[in-house]
Amino acid sequence: MNKKNINSTRIPVYRDVGFELTDSDITGDAFIKERYNEHSPGKFIYSRYRNPTIIDAEEELMKIEGSGWTLLTQSGMSAIDTALSVFQKAGDRRPWLFFSEVYGGTDSYIESVLIERRGVEIHRFDPDGMRYNLKEFDNIVNELKPALVFFEIISNPMLIVAPAREIIDIIHKNNATAIIDNTFATPHLIKPLELGADIVVHSATKYLGGHGNITAGALCGNDEQIMRDAIEYRKYTGHMISPDDAYRINTQMQTFSLRFQRQCDNALTIAEEIDKSDLVKEVYYPGLEKHVTNDVAEELFNGKGFGAIVTFSFEGKDDDHKRQRRDTFIKSVSESIKLVPTLGDSRTILIPVEPIWGDRYTDPGMIRLSVGFEDIGELKSKISLSLNGIQI
Ligand code: PLP
Repeated sequence: MNKKNINSTRIPVYRDVGFELTDSDITGDAFIKERYNEHSPGKFIYSRYRNPTIIDAEEELMKIEGSGWTLLTQSGMSAIDTALSVFQKAGDRRPWLFFSEVYGGTDSYIESVLIERRGVEIHRFDPDGMRYNLKEFDNIVNELKPALVFFEIISNPMLIVAPAREIIDIIHKNNATAIIDNTFATPHLIKPLELGADIVVHSATKYLGGHGNITAGALCGNDEQIMRDAIEYRKYTGHMISPDDAYRINTQMQTFSLRFQRQCDNALTIAEEIDKSDLVKEVYYPGLEKHVTNDVAEELFNGKGFGAIVTFSFEGKDDDHKRQRRDTFIKSVSESIKLVPTLGDSRTILIPVEPIWGDRYTDPGMIRLSVGFEDIGELKSKISLSLNGIQI
């Protein structure tokens, strides 16, 4: 069979570890081009460097994110490691600034890899209650002169929305690099590169994959030199995604916008429904007017939605009472809403916050819902029945 003339409309899964280079001249030429980390030199050499199935998936995400380049990695954490490490240069002792409201895994990476192992000087920027104070941020960046600043557009689990435009401007005014984790907001709500961000990272495990069946990460940017450095770092650390995962995520990304829009719509309905319950003390959802950063979300997301995570917390006489209500709810919805410690799945899932991040988020009544794209009628009635059924 002539493998070059098959009338398929897709790039297949090329599982080749190494590619045929036929003669010494072609081999020499391919390796020279590879050394300069071009995104697409004509010949493929070795799949940990570059692979056609992976490039095809990267091109799909470039369209979604509106980026000049995209690199896929084998997890969100490896995308974060790559995005940060390309700026770690021997002899550059400038500090790095991280928003304190970042994903717990990123926080552990900062502590155990950046601080304890690599000795990077790290500073944190705390929100002022539930809001980022831009004046304070301006002062800190001005004083510290960090090499880079890392933040998330929608934070976890309190869903604080960062005024990204103003933050990026302050970062650039001080000649620092802006790296943004856009996992929660996704390119459907905001494309931070359009606001001038230098790198956007994703845990593609979440909404880009969208079905809870692929662990993957992505970093996107426009700057050519950053791309070359990132390709090199990914190559030498082996952070490359597998061709199989790249093929699957490529297929699943075709429905990304449809899925995520529906998830945002479902989340708003669910947040409003939960907010009606007398047992609930607080609902944190940027789409509700009472959320402290609702105005920021309205401005930044421009009517497209507010994300698909809803955090809420039970009222109670004391901590034990709140825990009992939380656990009764979790048990009551468990037939249709499972306790699964991830987010961005096709179905609605939940986690109790205190048992996971209790050192930081101490409210024992708190639950984080990751809203799926299932039928909203059933979902809404399941949740309200369970809330109404709590007798304690
Ligand atoms: N960034 C955010 C905001 C996340 O929520 C996560 C995981 O939950 C990650 C990064 C890490 O992604 P992964 O688990 O794919 O490594």
